[in-house]
Amino acid sequence: MDRTKFVSERELEYQRECTERVRAMNAGMTAFVDTYGCQQNEADSERMRGMLREMGYTIVDDDKADVVVINSCAVREHAEQRVLGNIGHMVHYKKINPEQKIILAGCMAGEETVRQTVKKSYRQVDALLDTTSFWRLPETLLRLYEQGGRLIEHAEPDSRIAEGLPVVRTVPHKAYVSIMYGCDNFCSYCIVPYVRGRERSRDPKDVVREVRELAADGCHDIMLLGQNVNSYSGGGVDFPELLSRCAEVEGDFTLRFMTSHPKDCSHALIDAIAAHPKVERHIHLPVQSGSDEILRRMNRRYTVEQYCELVDYAREKIPGVIFTSDIIVGFPSESDEDFEGTVELVKRVRYDSIFTFIYSKRAGTPAAEMDDPITHEQKVKRFRRLMALQDEITLEDRRPLIGSTVRVHIDGESRSGELNLTARTQEGRLVSLKGDSGLIGTYADVKVTDITTFSLIGELK
Ligand code: SAH
Ligand code: SF4
Repeated sequence: MDRTKFVSERELEYQRECTERVRAMNAGMTAFVDTYGCQQNEADSERMRGMLREMGYTIVDDDKADVVVINSCAVREHAEQRVLGNIGHMVHYKKINPEQKIILAGCMAGEETVRQTVKKSYRQVDALLDTTSFWRLPETLLRLYEQGGRLIEHAEPDSRIAEGLPVVRTVPHKAYVSIMYGCDNFCSYCIVPYVRGRERSRDPKDVVREVRELAADGCHDIMLLGQNVNSYSGGGVDFPELLSRCAEVEGDFTLRFMTSHPKDCSHALIDAIAAHPKVERHIHLPVQSGSDEILRRMNRRYTVEQYCELVDYAREKIPGVIFTSDIIVGFPSESDEDFEGTVELVKRVRYDSIFTFIYSKRAGTPAAEMDDPITHEQKVKRFRRLMALQDEITLEDRRPLIGSTVRVHIDGESRSGELNLTARTQEGRLVSLKGDSGLIGTYADVKVTDITTFSLIGELK
């Protein structure tokens, strides 16, 4: 159902007014946006940087900036602890510079428990700004400057879309395009639907226009984003149709998308990928578990058989397609037999790589109420076994690539070692290679000389 609501022009106009007022009092101040978690947060951060730049801030990479926005992740407890730990350290500098403004944004800002904790124990945080209201950043800063005090009152998720926000991209040839926001799936372990609000889709015309502008600007790597892109429904257009329209935009670019929920990943979507050479030959299709009983308790609404049928259909229609996945081990009461189901599934699908997570209890989700007699040690053992199995599969399936030539897009610099550049193949596999940084943003033919579980090692031809 198409029931998207948009933030009104009048409200956006007010944010622009606040932008101008902050800009007028801004004498060379700096701002830092620190991002945790998924690509959706990366995309939101690019927009927050855009707004901050319009307010006159110089964007820096330093938590001593005059404004620090922490765009946080709440999916697992570990991620939350890291964010709180880092905010903890920031108290020292804030004592030296009490004028510094610290804003906790992202998924954690939408959690009531976090709000309480921040209110009492992290007094250095000046404001909370959840993912559904980050477009109010100009208003938030203006209020902090003009009225002082803290803005950490409770806010209900605002399930609307704000169009036309400015953006500062991390690298010019790579872009995230959010096509939808929120999630209505309520997988029983997951906090996202509670903090990101109800599912809502952008207008397809806005999405295609953005892709067209990016392609015209020479952007080579465009990723369509949503928590569940398959439920996209904007202006009577579904996701396979939107993907096709974007792939038909003129220009030299690769189109990727994230994330596809197996319950509504259709044959039509697979056919659309097959029909458009610009779409990456890769599907990230998180399975979460290889046990029907666990899938049922996770509220995933597909079976192992249905999942495997999709994989088989895609392999038949899209030669060379690779699959990646997210898997949770140690979901409450996961038995040895359930876990063996996951092992079997991983062997059957032969993913190119997987992200494996140990189940993390999230307050307020249905799974948090389930009995969980499995010890942490057992969970860790399962986790390690799955990682070792996947490493074996990754290496076995990549080994035949040694000696072959692959076409890559060189997309960035690597932080470590003498293989100073990173690139991506048509399937989205990471390639590490040596070369001049002037090559970033170009295509090249690369000979694969070695493989690791992490990347292909290549040499420019
Ligand atoms: N919308 C995406 C994923 C969002 S969260 C999807 O449905 O695939 C990214 C991944 O984090 C999930 O796929 C899941 O594997 C993991 N995850 C989410 N909640 C978790 C939890 N409570 N414990 C452990 N892993 C979790
Ligand atoms: Fe979370 Fe499930 Fe929604 Fe993904 S589809 S964000 S796992 S509730």
